[in-house]
Amino acid sequence: MWAEPVSPTLDFSPVCGAGACVHSRRGFLKAFGALGLAGAVASTPGFAQSAIPTLAATRRIDVHHHVYPPEWFAAKRDFILNSSDNPPAIMTQWTPARAIEQMDKNGIATGIASVGNPGVWFGDVAEARRLSRLANEGMAKIASDHPGRFGVFAALALPDVEGSLKEIEYAFDTLNVDGVHLLTSYGDKWPGDAAFDPVFAELNRRKAIVFIHPTGPDCCSVLNTGAPPSIMELPFDEARAIGSLVFNGTIAKYREIRFIFTHAGGPMPVLSARMEQLMRRPTIAERNPDGILATLRTLYFDVANSTVSPPAMAALLAFAKPDHIFFGTDYPYVDMEKTVGGLDHLGLSAETLIAVNRGNAVKLFPKFG
Ligand SMILES: [Zn+2]
Repeated sequence: MWAEPVSPTLDFSPVCGAGACVHSRRGFLKAFGALGLAGAVASTPGFAQSAIPTLAATRRIDVHHHVYPPEWFAAKRDFILNSSDNPPAIMTQWTPARAIEQMDKNGIATGIASVGNPGVWFGDVAEARRLSRLANEGMAKIASDHPGRFGVFAALALPDVEGSLKEIEYAFDTLNVDGVHLLTSYGDKWPGDAAFDPVFAELNRRKAIVFIHPTGPDCCSVLNTGAPPSIMELPFDEARAIGSLVFNGTIAKYREIRFIFTHAGGPMPVLSARMEQLMRRPTIAERNPDGILATLRTLYFDVANSTVSPPAMAALLAFAKPDHIFFGTDYPYVDMEKTVGGLDHLGLSAETLIAVNRGNAVKLFPKFG
């Protein structure tokens, strides 16, 4: 699939100018029709014209989309601003209207919202429960105020298991969220830790979608490498989190959960064969009866921060199942144009682009179809 040239029969060669590109109507009809999306295209305003504006027709679904519910942000504003490598204005100037303006410019129909790092855990159980409620009610309001434009990944207060179980119940049964948002580590624990098992058991019972976002782990964010944690430790912690879930048997045990990881899986696609071939401990093999590689390939990934890197995308496309790759921007930390532009210039087939931009996500989030 990697670098597959665009099929000439689909006539997808874009004509770009003034910041926008158009593709031929015939090519879009064929490609969308093949994926059962012709109806979606036909209903797009302006489709009856001789060419389709790419951005309007694409209707991307962004599964990696950060928001700042006002009450959650106000409660930890100074901490969040001081602990981030990002310019404060990115966070202080965020509004739903600005996010939607950017979404419209970049052909994004829906963003599945998650609160930005560090989430809701700051070391105190009572505070974490209060912050997760503020974050989740705030995100639910943003979604209900803008129908169809935002989904919600509810924040959970891990490592507080009891509070997380209560929040799962409230988030799914009262707020009707689309999934939950966890971090790759909590202090010195990674998601496969036995202490978290009740949370994954409940998420499995609910057939939940679990979006796992990288964070700087306590162990390693202070290493004197000269690089801020966001450069290296976040992707490495993603690999640690995946290893934790695989080697402790969580993924194989709870097969109803759909796990989404970010940033093209970080180093995991490159490490996957090593994880399979060098893992010779019998207990781990017993926990993964389908094998390590097959278990890893049940995971889903977004392409945030990766589409400008052909090597990162080559690794992901070679590793992941074609329908397990999602569009994701990491907005507002990363400009949406970066992901869109990078994806459009990778030389992917029209079918792959349509699937990554929207089709794959619609299978997991049919209400946004
Ligand atoms: Zn992010």
